[in-house]
Amino acid sequence: MKIAVISDIHGNLEALTSVFELLDQQGVDRTLCLGDVVGYGPDPGACLSQIQDRCDVIVAGNHEHAVLDLLDLDYFNPIARQATLWTRSQLDEEQLEYIRSWPLVHHETDFSIVHGSLDQPDLFDYIQTTWDAHLSFQQLQTPVCFIGHSHVPVSFLLSDVIRYNTDALVELQEGLQAIVNVGSVGQPRDGNPAASLVIYQPEERRIERFRVKYDIEAVQQKIRQSGLPEFLAERLAEGR
Ligand code: ZN
Repeated sequence: MKIAVISDIHGNLEALTSVFELLDQQGVDRTLCLGDVVGYGPDPGACLSQIQDRCDVIVAGNHEHAVLDLLDLDYFNPIARQATLWTRSQLDEEQLEYIRSWPLVHHETDFSIVHGSLDQPDLFDYIQTTWDAHLSFQQLQTPVCFIGHSHVPVSFLLSDVIRYNTDALVELQEGLQAIVNVGSVGQPRDGNPAASLVIYQPEERRIERFRVKYDIEAVQQKIRQSGLPEFLAERLAEGR
């Protein structure tokens, strides 16, 4: 069984399309999405239909909650706020209903998924330090929890202590747990502009990271044409 886990697409259709091409090549059986499908990027509607067609389980991100008015816009900086209002103007009732159906957390025997953190999923806190990870590990009942939100691909591995790990391959040790940030498809912020994702093989206890290059200039052009803030175009090329 090969399970792809993607997150933080942010309306970037070119990145999402390239990621799905890789998933086809890899022959994945299931695809999970950790939210923030919309927000920042120029193609929120098209990304939603792709996700609806191809993903088996989806949890909501803070950008979905903002678009649905479930999260105060004061949570955001001015650029994110402007992008949220623009995104809301692009979506119809049916699309908003679809987003509204997504839960915050999903658990199966082999994994848990959440956008931000397991301890308070509705607050969309970031797991950036081993202390943040500790709070979520206290709630974790499965071998691994996949998260997104920070757009930085990193793993927290729990043994006698919690270890911060950036390896491209994580092999889960029997009886030990991990929290794995899959990184962002549509707006990576770790200095590498290529789309980020993982493929999980539960039987092998194996989690492998992938990076996928895509046509960044095409997305930048669409961002500029749509009137979204210029910074949102610039940051894609730098992966920040
Ligand atoms: Zn995000």
